[in-house]
Amino acid sequence: MDSVQYILSPREAYIAEQQWRVVKRSVDARQRELRVHLTILTDDKGKPVPKDAPIPLYEPPVFQDVHNAKRSVVIIGAGPAGLFAALTLLEHGIKPIIYERGKEVSERKKDIALLNRNEGLNPESNYCFGEGGAGTFSDGKLFSRSKKRGNMQRVMELFHYFGAPDTVLYEAHAHIGSDKLPGIIKKMRETILEKGGEIHFETCITSLKDWKLEIGNWKTPIILAIGHSAHDTYRMLAKEGVKLETKGFAMGVRAEHPQALINKLMYHLDTSRTRELEIINYVGNASYSLVTQVDGRGVYSFCMCPGGHIVPAGSEAGSCVVNGMSASHRNSPYANSGMVVQINSEDIPGDDPLRGLEFQEELERLAFEHGGPQAQAPAQRLKDFVEGKASKDLPACSYLPGIVPSRLDEWLPAHIGKRLQQGFRDFNKKYHGFLTNDAVIVGVESRSSSAVRIPRDPETLQSVSTPLLYPCGEGAGYAGGITSSALDGINAALKIADLAQ
Ligand SMILES: Cc1cc2nc3c(=O)[nH]c(=O)nc-3n(C[C@H](O)[C@H](O)[C@H](O)COP(=O)(O)OP(=O)(O)OC[C@H]3O[C@@H](n4cnc5c(N)ncnc54)[C@H](O)[C@@H]3O)c2cc1C
Repeated sequence: MDSVQYILSPREAYIAEQQWRVVKRSVDARQRELRVHLTILTDDKGKPVPKDAPIPLYEPPVFQDVHNAKRSVVIIGAGPAGLFAALTLLEHGIKPIIYERGKEVSERKKDIALLNRNEGLNPESNYCFGEGGAGTFSDGKLFSRSKKRGNMQRVMELFHYFGAPDTVLYEAHAHIGSDKLPGIIKKMRETILEKGGEIHFETCITSLKDWKLEIGNWKTPIILAIGHSAHDTYRMLAKEGVKLETKGFAMGVRAEHPQALINKLMYHLDTSRTRELEIINYVGNASYSLVTQVDGRGVYSFCMCPGGHIVPAGSEAGSCVVNGMSASHRNSPYANSGMVVQINSEDIPGDDPLRGLEFQEELERLAFEHGGPQAQAPAQRLKDFVEGKASKDLPACSYLPGIVPSRLDEWLPAHIGKRLQQGFRDFNKKYHGFLTNDAVIVGVESRSSSAVRIPRDPETLQSVSTPLLYPCGEGAGYAGGITSSALDGINAALKIADLAQ
């Protein structure tokens, strides 16, 4: 089948979408008037195909029964990389055996509820650790800045197969939302178990040494999909001689504005008017992606969550780390985003490959010290931060454990704080009104990307130091985000499937 592209007003696009089968959609807010780019499926005669026609489907996955498979693979970590690796192994008749330090998703939810009520952090079950990894209670944005790592569409198709909405197949900036993700992850688990794979929850792998499994001439490969927050596991790997190296990463704060203000700045819409609110209901709350250069380093927005919440994303006691998430409707009154500064490995003195982790941990401890007695996060009104003034009080904020006023302008290391201040001034030049005391910054956004790489052979994808160890996903330093980590997991599994031929 063919398709035809249209550039429409939101109202026209809404009407078209009620009638015809859309196969691609993106919102274009670059001009003053909002535009929607729609691609509509057409039949052999060039006529649009009705909405209820199925999306031209990909090949649905066929998972083999591996109860009695001769070949198995150990997977450490049940985040997107580990789960998608497991599903790919099932497609190739290989048994995945997953070890996950955290709990299964419904139990994990309870620990997260406690965390949000300031009733304690479970270091093994939180926003980073547990079934689905860091991707489960996230915004669930399914797009990646990188186009080069193979078939992103396959990742979308698998998410769709396990229950994600049709939009993940055609929306340019698709997202799932933290209310839907747990159900999708649960279905993945059920498939893995039903087909004969194994998942061992609450099992933290603390050594690789004793794992030399051989069945006949099959030596069991290990897929290492630990994410970037398991600092203890990186330290174990270093001790056991797995080659690690420092890599560049980014750190900063999370900024939160009223969503209505962001809608006005990005879409030029006033959401107090009913007609304009209807448009938002169709195109979704506005997001932004900002970038500038300050003193030779990138300063940029990261993981923007329209209609979302700021969440406590640390996994260690005595530290304060924030991140953002949103539900599928993205309908909270807040718009938050990481605002981070690029850190290069040469910015951190020394030659220890784990020095980036220590740098992150130091800032996280500092943020904790400047937070409140009940683990509230340190915060400052945005304009006060840029002008170097104390905030007497703070605006309402989505961060459930609470925020307390703090002088982030004084205690953030100058190479981060000063660059952020200039970055916000630059962003305000582009979107006048962005720099406002109605917005607040919350500290610290320190885990936006991995500070460590586990180098691997580009051909075999095995660790350069440790044969049959397949470091993949965000923790290996080769991916960042849900889709690219999932894809990296798929690629590791495909390499192993090749070995099995
Ligand atoms: C709050 C939040 C919101 C986010 N929002 C988005 C978003 O909207 N879009 C996006 O693309 N990305 C988002 N991200 C980032 C995204 O979640 C990660 O990039 C992605 O989950 C990385 O996948 P992964 O499988 O490599 O690692 P992870 O998802 O981190 O999974 C690693 C798993 O390994 C387990 N593990 C670690 N060490 C061990 C061990 N020794 N033994 C056993 N198990 C172990 C952990 O418990 C964890 O479950 C968000 C992250 C957070 C924290």
